[in-house]
Amino acid sequence: MKTFKLITGMTLMAIFTGCAPREGKEKQENATGQPGDFKFLLEQFADLKIMRYQVPGFDELTPRQRVLIYYLSEAALCGRDIVFDQNFRYNLIVRKTLEEIFTHYEGDRNHPDFGKFTVYLKRVWFSNGIHHHYSTDKIDPGFSGAYFEELVRNSPGAVLPLREGQTVREFVAWLSPILFDPNVAPKRISLDPSTDMVQSSACNFYDGLTQQEAELFYEKMKDPSDPDPVSYGLNSRLVKKDGQIVEEVYRVGGLYGPAVEKVVYWLEQASGVAENEHQHAVISKLIDYYRTGNLETFDEYNVLWVNDLDSRIDFVNGFIEVYGDPLGMKATWESVVNFKDMDATRRTEIISSNAQWFEDHSPVDARFRKKKVKGVSAKVITVAQLGGDCYPSTPIGINLPNADWIRKEHGSKSVTMENITYAYDQAALGNGFLEEFCASEEEIGLAKEWGSLGSNVHTDLHECLGHGSGQLLPGTSPEALKNYSSALEEARADLFALYYIMDPKMVELGVLPSLHPARAEYNTYIRNGLMSQLTRIEPGKNIEQAHMRNRQLVASWCCEKGRDRNIIEKFSRDGKTFVRINDYEGLRGLFGELLAEVQRIKSEGDYKAGMKLVEGYGVQVDTVLHQEVLERFRKLNIAPYGGFVNPLITPVMQNGQVTDAEISYPDDYTKQMLYYSEKYSFLDQ
Ligand code: ZN
Repeated sequence: MKTFKLITGMTLMAIFTGCAPREGKEKQENATGQPGDFKFLLEQFADLKIMRYQVPGFDELTPRQRVLIYYLSEAALCGRDIVFDQNFRYNLIVRKTLEEIFTHYEGDRNHPDFGKFTVYLKRVWFSNGIHHHYSTDKIDPGFSGAYFEELVRNSPGAVLPLREGQTVREFVAWLSPILFDPNVAPKRISLDPSTDMVQSSACNFYDGLTQQEAELFYEKMKDPSDPDPVSYGLNSRLVKKDGQIVEEVYRVGGLYGPAVEKVVYWLEQASGVAENEHQHAVISKLIDYYRTGNLETFDEYNVLWVNDLDSRIDFVNGFIEVYGDPLGMKATWESVVNFKDMDATRRTEIISSNAQWFEDHSPVDARFRKKKVKGVSAKVITVAQLGGDCYPSTPIGINLPNADWIRKEHGSKSVTMENITYAYDQAALGNGFLEEFCASEEEIGLAKEWGSLGSNVHTDLHECLGHGSGQLLPGTSPEALKNYSSALEEARADLFALYYIMDPKMVELGVLPSLHPARAEYNTYIRNGLMSQLTRIEPGKNIEQAHMRNRQLVASWCCEKGRDRNIIEKFSRDGKTFVRINDYEGLRGLFGELLAEVQRIKSEGDYKAGMKLVEGYGVQVDTVLHQEVLERFRKLNIAPYGGFVNPLITPVMQNGQVTDAEISYPDDYTKQMLYYSEKYSFLDQ
C-alpha cells in the first residue's frame, strides 16, 4: 500500500526544531556541495510539475553498497515498458510513434500546435500511457487529427511501429481514433458498479471476457479454508481464447518475458554484491519467482523480504499494487531502490516499538484488534531510484507486503520516503497556496512552522501502524469490500494516524515536541479533504481515486457529525469559502468514532455499509464549491500533480569490473524519457 502526497502545492517551510532527529535535512542541502543552489522544480506543463530529488548520504555508503544500488537501479528501469502495456494495450505503440515524430519532424517546430504535441508526449510519458495517471481519463491531445497526419507526413526519418503489411496511411487511420476519439477507451479504470467494470476499463488485465467471468474464474480457484492463500491473479493477464479462459503469466518465457529477463539479469548482478546472506536469499528468491511466475514463491519471497531488517539498502521490485485493476486483483509493475536514513529512522522506531500500546488503546471494538501486533517495522528511507508505476509520479510512503496473512503472521515493512517529501516541500516554497486557502494567519503560521513535521509523522503512523492494525473476523474474505476496499483501507490507515497524532503519548514518547504539529496536520487534512484536493478533479467529474475518496469521506463525515457542536466551521469571507477547526479534541473524538466503524466494516466484510460510507461521503463533489476552488487555484498557477526526474547512477569500472558507482542529477525531463526509451525498451510495440 502507498501513501501519496496530499497536494503538491503546499508551502511547508518548517525548519525542523522538534525533537525528532532531522539531520538528514541538512545533509540534503550539502548534497551538491552548493547549499541552496539545487534546482528542485524543473518545469511545469498541463496539470503537472516535474521536480528532482537529491540523494543525501549516497557518498557515505561503501563502494560495494553503491554498486548494489547501481544494479538494483538498472533492474528498476528495465520494467518501464511493462507498466505502459499493462495500462493500455496500445500505449507502447503510441509512445513509440510520438517519440519518432518528436525526433524526426522536419516541419515548423515553433508552431503552437507542435508545442501542444510536445506537451501531449510529456503527459503520455508521465502517465505511462494515454490515460491521466490520477483521474484515469483518456488525455485530450489538444491538437487535431489533421495536424497529427501532417506531423507523420513531415517526419520522413520516423520509424513507425507498423503492423505487417500496413501502410503508413492505414496505420494513421487505425491509430487516430485511439488518440482522438473520446469514446474509444475513455477510461483506464472504471469503478462504476452499475457497469461491467472489466469491459468498461481500458487497462490491459483482461481480454475478451466479462467481469462476471473473471470473478467466477478466481472464485473457483480460491479455497476459503486456506489460511495462507496466494494472491490469486496478481501476476497475469486473464484472456478468453476459443472459449477457454487462461492466465498469461508475467514471467521469464511468459508474458513480458523479454523485460522480465532483463530485470532478472540485473538482480543476478545485485545478488553478487548483497550486503549479507539474508539479503542474498531475498534477491535469489525474487529471481526464482520471476523465472517461474509461481505465486507461492512470491509469498516466500515476501516473507524473506519483510524479515530483512538489517540491510542498509532495500528495494521494491515486482508486481505489487492492485490500484490499476477495477477488480483489485492484478498488480502493476514497480520498483523503488532506497537506503535507510539512520537518523530519521529513530523517530519511526519509537512509534513501531510501541505498536502494541497503540493497538490496545485504539478506539475500535476489542474483537477487531490484534491481540499481538507483530513485526511492525518502520524506517525512513532515502530514495535512489524510481521505476515502473512509481515513476515519475511517486508515493511518499510505502507499506508492504500486501497479502493479509503475511501481514498478520510476519508483519509488514513500512517506509517514509523523506528525500521525496523534502523535494516536494522545497519545490513548493512561496507558491501562495497556504495564503489562499488557510482560514487565518495563525493557521498559516502553524502550517509553516509545523506542517512538514505533522505530515511526516502522519505518514509514519499511517504506514507503521494504520495499515497493520486490526484483524478480520474468522471467515471474512479479504476481498469482501471489492471496489470499495482500497478507499476504505486508506481511510482506516488515515484515521488511525489522525486519531493518534493528537494523543499526548506522542509528546510523552518524544516523537513530537508539542501537539502543534498535530493541529497543523488536522488543519491540512480537513482543508484538503473538503476543499483543496478538489483542484485535482475536472469540472463535472466525481472523485474516483481511492486516496481522494478516503480523504473526502473522512473530512465530510466529520464535518456532518460535528455540526451540532460546531467542531468544524465552514464560513465565507470576501466571497471565498474557508474551513476552520474550532474543537481539535472534539475532532479527534470523531476520528476515533469513524475509525471504529471503518474497522468494523473491514473486520466483518460489511460491503453494504462500506458502499454507503464511500458513496455517501467520498464520491460526490459539491459543484459550486468545486468551481470556486478551481478558480482560486488557477490564479495561483500551481500544477496539482508532481513527478520526478531520476538521478543517474553510473558504474565506475576498473579492469572490466564494476568497483563503485557515482550519482549525478540530470535536469532535463524530455532527455531522460528519450534516454529510457532508447536504453530500456524491451517489449514489442
Ligand atoms: Zn496507505
